[in-house]
Amino acid sequence: MRDYEIIGYPRLVRLNPNIPWKTRGNGALSLRVGKKGGTVKRKIGEINGNDAFCSAAFTQELDENDRHRVYGIIQDILEEQARTEDDNTNPGFVMLTIPPDNNTYKKAVTRIVPLDEVLTTLHNLHATFEGYKNQRGLIGATAAVAWEPGDGTFEVIAYRSKERWGTKRSVDPASVKKIDATFPSTFDNYDYRNHHNRITPNSPCPILFGIRGDNVEELMAAVNVVQSEPVDSWLVFESNQGTDDHLQRKQVIQIKPFESVITEGQVEENPRTIQGGHVLFTLKDSTGTIPCAAYEPTKEFRTIIRALRTGDTVEVYGGVREQPLTINLEKINIKHLTTVLVKAENPVCPVCGKHMKSRGAEQGYKCMICKTSSDEPVMREQPRPIAPGFYEVPVCARRHLSKPLKRIITPTTVVVATGTVGTRR
Ligand code: ZN
Repeated sequence: MRDYEIIGYPRLVRLNPNIPWKTRGNGALSLRVGKKGGTVKRKIGEINGNDAFCSAAFTQELDENDRHRVYGIIQDILEEQARTEDDNTNPGFVMLTIPPDNNTYKKAVTRIVPLDEVLTTLHNLHATFEGYKNQRGLIGATAAVAWEPGDGTFEVIAYRSKERWGTKRSVDPASVKKIDATFPSTFDNYDYRNHHNRITPNSPCPILFGIRGDNVEELMAAVNVVQSEPVDSWLVFESNQGTDDHLQRKQVIQIKPFESVITEGQVEENPRTIQGGHVLFTLKDSTGTIPCAAYEPTKEFRTIIRALRTGDTVEVYGGVREQPLTINLEKINIKHLTTVLVKAENPVCPVCGKHMKSRGAEQGYKCMICKTSSDEPVMREQPRPIAPGFYEVPVCARRHLSKPLKRIITPTTVVVATGTVGTRR
């Protein structure tokens, strides 16, 4: 690539997390490439011990011969690196001089896009492209090029040396906690309650760790704070992770499987815990009802969901499962808690001033002295263990695209700490 230059940060774009046939992270990478000659350079990483730079501004369009060469370079990399033996890996790459509009991205992050539609877009834009196996990788590749960062974040990814690929990763959790404490713009680093180091992947991929955040300088500094096996190389990506771009605001009747939604309504019946520790409740709005689930892997988040009561007003955030149609909760905004009344004592006789006696289940009450009867016991308000506000699943259960509350909540907003019922921070 010595005749060419990367323009701006490379991009890591996540797409619809609810596609049944996706690869694990459903992600795609994109780069803008121009001729060498940028005057303002920006460091984006280190490769083989050398600093890697991008040009901060666009340089010069590639001619046809250049494009042919770049195409060959990408093709070689992809054919060498892609794990095509995995059934769910269907790689593809696209090369365009004019990117598709942002709507192409918006569709691919929120719903299921047919391959035909993407092929039409690519033909209309005179793209050159290569799709392998079932060609579905072209959908993600095209969407990644179409993404216009609005509310974007960054991830610095550190790679392992080749001889360690597939072996156990060595990353010191104490140093990951240190990043969390030192760099406030980073997020999803460590799950303290579940003792889960989130920056290290579990798959046998060449990635050693990835740190996410809003500030590139902090991410670059954080790479050197992590105590780990030697880092072979590292690179900063601009990303749609942590943006909630996958969510669409919908009424219950509009909700479709394989999408992700934000829906407001009332809790129709008290939550129940089913086998496996999953917690379910039914949400109701003026158009219909839908079950909402906090599955076992969402750990302490379930405590919040269990504390909901019939009549509470909530806004739920989550992916939609098909069978049965269910919202898999990622976050919840408890907007209004209903007043829950419980029986305090038997009614007091208005004539004698003494407590009446129960006449048995559902039979009401009767004064033993003057025989006055009543159906209404004395009620009191039951204190609720939760407060209105946002709650999210713990770091160990968070999706790549889910916007952490850390990125939503300003310090003036009342926040309730995840999982610690009734505690404000
Ligand atoms: Zn009486």
